[in-house]
Amino acid sequence: MFKKYDIIVVGAGHAGCEAAAAAANLGSSVLLITMNMGTIAQMSCNPAMGGVAKGQIVREIDAMGGYSGIITDKTSIQYRMLNLSKGPAMWSPRAQSDRMRFAEEWRLALERTANVDFWQDTVSSLLVTNNTIKGVRTSLGVEIESDAVVLTNGTFMNGIIHIGEKKFGGGRAAEKASTGITEQLVTLGFESGRMKTGTPPRIDGRSLNYSLMEEQWGDEGARGRFSYTEVEQIKEQRCCWITYTNTKVHETLKEGFEKSPMFTGRIKGLGPRYCPSIEDKINRFAERDRHQIFVEPEGLNTVEIYVNGFSTSLPEDVQYKALTQIQGFENAKMFRPGYAIEYDYFPPTQLGLTLETKLISNLYFAGQINGTTGYEEAASQGFIAGINAHQKLKEKHELIMRRSESYIGVLIDDLVTKGTEEPYRMFTSRAEHRLLLRQDNADIRLSPIGHELGLISDERLEKVNQKIKNSDDIVKYTRNHSIDQTNANPLLEELGTSPVSQSTRLFNLMGRPQVSFEDLKRASTELKNYLSTFDKETIEQAEIKIKYESYFEKEKEIVDRMKKMEDKEINPDFDYNKMQSLSKEAREKLMKIKPHTLGQASRISGVSPSDISVLMVHISK
Ligand code: FAD
Repeated sequence: MFKKYDIIVVGAGHAGCEAAAAAANLGSSVLLITMNMGTIAQMSCNPAMGGVAKGQIVREIDAMGGYSGIITDKTSIQYRMLNLSKGPAMWSPRAQSDRMRFAEEWRLALERTANVDFWQDTVSSLLVTNNTIKGVRTSLGVEIESDAVVLTNGTFMNGIIHIGEKKFGGGRAAEKASTGITEQLVTLGFESGRMKTGTPPRIDGRSLNYSLMEEQWGDEGARGRFSYTEVEQIKEQRCCWITYTNTKVHETLKEGFEKSPMFTGRIKGLGPRYCPSIEDKINRFAERDRHQIFVEPEGLNTVEIYVNGFSTSLPEDVQYKALTQIQGFENAKMFRPGYAIEYDYFPPTQLGLTLETKLISNLYFAGQINGTTGYEEAASQGFIAGINAHQKLKEKHELIMRRSESYIGVLIDDLVTKGTEEPYRMFTSRAEHRLLLRQDNADIRLSPIGHELGLISDERLEKVNQKIKNSDDIVKYTRNHSIDQTNANPLLEELGTSPVSQSTRLFNLMGRPQVSFEDLKRASTELKNYLSTFDKETIEQAEIKIKYESYFEKEKEIVDRMKKMEDKEINPDFDYNKMQSLSKEAREKLMKIKPHTLGQASRISGVSPSDISVLMVHISK
């Protein structure tokens, strides 16, 4: 019934969808097997993409030819650029998505991708011979052969859902858990662990009193975008609202603590530290008498509301009572209660930087199965795993992303080198070179990589090169053109910055934090006319260059200095046990992680600078 595929992708969540699309677009034959074709790219929790550091990841995927940015642009019902009051390294796009349209557009995109076949079924075990993957077996008893497999099971493996004292098997609300794979992998020598996450109740928006809440609209003016390609966006935008819990709500929630699976020890897995449940928040921050609640629509054509900030696994009647004590929620009707879910994951130190497992050749893991949380983290891993599965099969060079070139590189290096014992989410603070890893320059950083792989067209790369040239031209223009003091000073006074005593170069004025091109255009018609020939992103790029170039240059020098270590490759089969001059701990850790470079070795906890010196001397011989 089935031909042999190049690659089977198990699971059509955010990781699986990107993996299938990337591998198929590169030319591999791909079979995407998922339990339920009605839930392809389902947003299990909040209907939103991006946010701090995560928005950068979506732009990086897009810059290399992935789909997440395009799907987000097509389905967003509110767009905001977060952190605009901070420097550009912190600017982070975030979109509220229409949950149903998001899943629909992903499915359509995959259906339009040549080389992707679909099969709705549950994979129950893997076909493995001589430590090499050969395909999968499903719960229908079908065996399907392939040369590589990408596992992206998300929260489904041995998933247990908790609501108060009730618990039952499930991978997500109203979906079955996946059993069998963990047990088989453990028999094959893998280590597995348990993690936990949770989601808030969903509410009937018709039952809320929005006049008692604060409105929160998206950015004014032209809509922002995640994708560097131009796709048609939904014109209609939706408002979100803000309200707060109060001491009454907290008291009610506390009444349920004795039935809470979190506090009674029934949940063993560690949950996401930065996305705590409401019971966790009132327990940990007992001094706070209110917590913010974001009231977010789930889509354009539904009344369903997501109660962001109220994730809970307390009994449903306690959830309901507490909700109705929140301002604006007095008459709330609940569609479904919040719940917590515990699931299996595989500590990601069992993977190489290509996301291939060290134990089984041509088997890749991506997404929540690696201990991460979040759609963006999952999608980026799927994208890289799909690319690498293809590249390895076709004997082409595999893609290892550097920490200095992308958040995706930081994510994978952190996971594979340090592992994680609690759900890992991305933050800007995890990236030491974040000044260089901005959302505005993801295309400049990464499109050449996508182009070399064959995922970015010549035309698209040419557009990126043109953007670089044009923004350099604008910078040059500002160095060569001045504005006289009579035109400049009224504007400078209005902007609250000191006047100039003579004709001044635009470059020098733009160096002031208060001054932007938008402002200067008002004082110089010549500049206004000159800039009118460039698009918004190019002008923004020039502005960022003028204001921050000296910082970027310093950061690039640091990257160049570290490059020596990052470029020093180590044979993965190197036997560290033979090097008695290394500490015992270093030998053990190096044997386990099998670092790809000296730079990666230096980030392994327990490997000291003196161990690195020893290694450096040895490798240089
Ligand atoms: P998933 O999106 O879970 O997709 C897994 C896919 O694999 C599904 O399509 C499933 O049907 C399929 N599948 C599983 N096993 C098999 C099998 N054996 N055979 C065939 N198909 C299979 N993230 C946040 O950032 N913040 C949050 O607050 C948050 N809360 C969450 C709350 C809940 C209750 C859940 C379930 C998830 C939450 N997440 C949250 C996590 C977020 O949903 C995931 O990080 C993200 O969806 C992971 O993507 P993935 O592709 O790895 O897996």
